[in-house]
Amino acid sequence: MKSIDDIAAALQGYDPQALSVDQVNAFLRELVQPVSADDSQDVFLFDALGRVLAQDVVSPISVPAHNNSAMDGFAFDAAQLQADQPLRLRVVGTALAGKAWQGKVNAGECLKIMTGAILPDELDTIAPQEFCQVDSAHNVTTVTIPPNILKAGDNRRLMGEDLMQGEPALKAGQHLTPAALGLVASLGLPDVRVHRRLRVAYFSTGDEVLSLGDAPREGAVYDSNRYTVFGLLTRMGCELIDMGVVRDEPNLLEAAFAKVALEADAIITSGGVSVGEADFTKAMMKKQGDVAFWKIAMRPGRPMAVGRIGKSVLFGLPGNPVAVMVTFLAFVRPALLRMMGSTAKPAPLLRAKSLEPLRKKAGRTEYQRGFVSTSPNGTLQVRTTGNQGSGVLSSMVQGNGLIVLHHGQGNVAVGDEVDVMMFDGAI
Ligand code: AMP
Ligand code: MG
Repeated sequence: MKSIDDIAAALQGYDPQALSVDQVNAFLRELVQPVSADDSQDVFLFDALGRVLAQDVVSPISVPAHNNSAMDGFAFDAAQLQADQPLRLRVVGTALAGKAWQGKVNAGECLKIMTGAILPDELDTIAPQEFCQVDSAHNVTTVTIPPNILKAGDNRRLMGEDLMQGEPALKAGQHLTPAALGLVASLGLPDVRVHRRLRVAYFSTGDEVLSLGDAPREGAVYDSNRYTVFGLLTRMGCELIDMGVVRDEPNLLEAAFAKVALEADAIITSGGVSVGEADFTKAMMKKQGDVAFWKIAMRPGRPMAVGRIGKSVLFGLPGNPVAVMVTFLAFVRPALLRMMGSTAKPAPLLRAKSLEPLRKKAGRTEYQRGFVSTSPNGTLQVRTTGNQGSGVLSSMVQGNGLIVLHHGQGNVAVGDEVDVMMFDGAI
């Protein structure tokens, strides 16, 4: 396992007093490792939503298992089609979904077929019933297929076109989404092997921070960070260890870190890491672990502590409520996904036209809370939620994404396109 100093030494232009957002993520990719597949477990599909596959799911069958019809209509051999000529065929039976039709279809014949019914080997094409003229006389039914509307293979689903037997249907590292659960079920598999859940401990620090139920006090604020962090971690499917608010006393902080260092894969704290802090949080992190204290060229969320305490990875987030959420989304979430064994790529940033001028200093990354909507001509547009103070948590509620103003970017004029990171399911 690489020490903080080892990782720092290998990072181009590392300066703990002025790290870029990209450098932070590059550092974290080295710091955190995926959980071992040795601890993986088999879970039933209904318990697997949001979990991460620990091994490939190999398809025991082909899906679909047979060539079959995509339409209600008449199955026939398309070799008989001739340009500009209608094709008249005798109907020799009906193939229903769920059972194979017994018999053979010869030249000049066709089979009435329902959607999903197995297509006999000698047939390759289905004429949808609404295209065909059907005539019955003396117990003989014929269909006439008009010319020039069909080609060989039309309306046929090929065996294995969804999944082929013996091939990996899903790869290790796949996040189990609703679609993935359905795919596994379509293979007839009742359970999947997933990584264990990540155990994440979190607490808030600061003597001015009140727990819910405490009487209000002048100069004190209620602890909102534990609730946003709780929500963010729950959405990620983590197992949570809630440590409450830890007062700014060395023995309390020491006990909190000592406890979670043994139990948790990661510890997330908020508060107490900024430069002017007179408190014991930073000192205790340093004493108990291998920790770096950073100033990041970003807004909000400049100070942050990162490292290891015991077997846990420490994310010491700033105290301001918006800074907590932004640093979580920008750094903690991708790092935790990696630890969970997920190979999910981050969602692409969207481009939207700014409805306002935005002031931006080059040389830092800014995350402004934005509300993205569709303009009357169908393109995306974005406005800010107003006051961008790092304590204005209502901006995170009103916004549906973050406007990402990149490191080198300067002021934005009305109508300029900007990148937006949508909250989607993460918030
Ligand atoms: P700090 O990073 O400790 O200097 O805190 C920065 C600001 O965030 C201060 O105004 C704190 O009162 C506020 N703050 C710190 N922790 C919390 C918390 N858990 N919930 C709400 N606000 C907090
Ligand atoms: Mg503080």
